Amino acid sequence: MEDVSGWNPRNLCDHCLGRIFARVSTGLTNQQRGQIARAVLSSFSEGGRADGKCILCRDLFDDMERYAEACFQRMNGYQFSTFLVGSTVHSNILENEKVLQERYGDRGESLKKEFDRELGKILSSMTGKEFSNDPDLYIHVDLRYDSISIKARSIYIYGTYRKLVRGIPQTRWIHGSGETVESIIGEPLKVISDSIDYRLHGAGREDVDVRMLGNGREFVIEGVEPKVRNFDLSTLRREINESGKVFVTNLSFTGKDTVERIKKERYSKIYDITAEGSVRIDSEKIRSILSAMDKKVIYQRTPLRVSRTRSDLVRERMVSSPEILWVRGQRFRFRITAEAGLYLKEFVSGDNGRTEPSVSSLYGDRFHVIRMDVARILR
Ligand SMILES: [Zn+2]
Repeated sequence: MEDVSGWNPRNLCDHCLGRIFARVSTGLTNQQRGQIARAVLSSFSEGGRADGKCILCRDLFDDMERYAEACFQRMNGYQFSTFLVGSTVHSNILENEKVLQERYGDRGESLKKEFDRELGKILSSMTGKEFSNDPDLYIHVDLRYDSISIKARSIYIYGTYRKLVRGIPQTRWIHGSGETVESIIGEPLKVISDSIDYRLHGAGREDVDVRMLGNGREFVIEGVEPKVRNFDLSTLRREINESGKVFVTNLSFTGKDTVERIKKERYSKIYDITAEGSVRIDSEKIRSILSAMDKKVIYQRTPLRVSRTRSDLVRERMVSSPEILWVRGQRFRFRITAEAGLYLKEFVSGDNGRTEPSVSSLYGDRFHVIRMDVARILR
């Protein structure tokens, strides 16, 4: 690092000299302030500009057009309406600037701030786009390595989905492949928005083997690093629905806040469940047991099958409006409304006594779920 203790203002460019006085007078650029300061200093015969590059910024500000051109090239190909510029400045410059500002009473603006602002102004006039603190496009200039990186804000699309076939998980495993609700919705979005990836945010999830019917489940699909932000959602909907497995409706562009909202939703749901016992079912008995469960609270300890990923606690959830749909041999199908968070497979099986009461414990047999559908989400 250079020794700056003996710096003379003559060794600074107009920008760096002007920044020292940035708060002295508003309405001027740092360059104009620098010119004035230099003129004043000259009258005491210590002004003028020494030969050689500015000892602080190495004449960075003479290069603004070059930086702007390079940024403009990188922004090309992205659809955006707002942007923001940021930069990283070498720590030596920051240290030297600190010394300089302390010497002059810390009244100045930082080099980084001036650089960001001036570059932003040029880019704004080149692109015709506005600045924003929550921009579509963020451009970062690393002045240490003379490199530029660019980050496009994700796009978020709200909708509801129905899953009409079993065997499709909602989201991808980390190293998994194969079809998921996420991939069926996300792949067409990835293509249409020229994104590098996608993420599905669901208002809850159904198991792999459970269909999601009725009015569908709310979701937000996020396109990561999109190049295209404006496109026809009916085209996207058509392409997703061509899967014949997952159907989406009510698509609309939205923001990240919708992800937070739907993640917090706790809707009750109506389920249609086919269960099987070990012996032929007594039709009257199962009817009376089920109808007695209307508006009953179920105490459910975290099921064994999810206990590795969920904390072990006892939930209290109410079930209501039970209705037998049919009884045949060892099987029966019923409809029931359950509060959010109740695990229905365990409500049927009893989960070795961890869920109480259960269909199994009340009937006195071991029932398990053969097929299950979410018939409707109550929202
Ligand atoms: Zn300078």
